[in-house]
Amino acid sequence: MEHEPAEYLCLRCKDVGLRPTDSADGYEFFKCPRCERRFTKSPGMTALHDRWGNAISYVLYDVIFARDPPAEAERVAATVAEEHTREHIDTLIAEIRLELADPVQQVRDILNQDQPEEVLREYLRLLADHLEAANRDECARYTARRSEATWLMQHDWSEVLVRI
Ligand SMILES: [Zn+2]
Repeated sequence: MEHEPAEYLCLRCKDVGLRPTDSADGYEFFKCPRCERRFTKSPGMTALHDRWGNAISYVLYDVIFARDPPAEAERVAATVAEEHTREHIDTLIAEIRLELADPVQQVRDILNQDQPEEVLREYLRLLADHLEAANRDECARYTARRSEATWLMQHDWSEVLVRI
């Protein structure tokens, strides 16, 4: 039993067999023992896609009824930047970049969306761009605060020296 070849390989690791975890209403769920990514096989489909709950699935949910998902990218990026930790945002950006550079699924299948695949991919690309820009702004503000603090420290120190 244990040595039976896995039916599906991890979409990301490519050479690691997935383990079935559970199933419900014709959906079958799998997990990769190496990267721990979770995947779903929807009823009537042969290809796997990311399972609900991964970082990309949440931002797809944000535009599930949008007529023009790319137009929502900036708004969603602002919400994500406000509501999530830096770590979550970095993971989200990395997962989007990975999927765009190495497409392993129809992202529209994750939530069974009506919008065309290329429109959702364009939305994801713009969203990652906005989030990266927000990260850079935050870094720039941090650096500015640091150099201000350094200047103040040096300034105070020189005043002290003058008074001695
Ligand atoms: Zn994997």
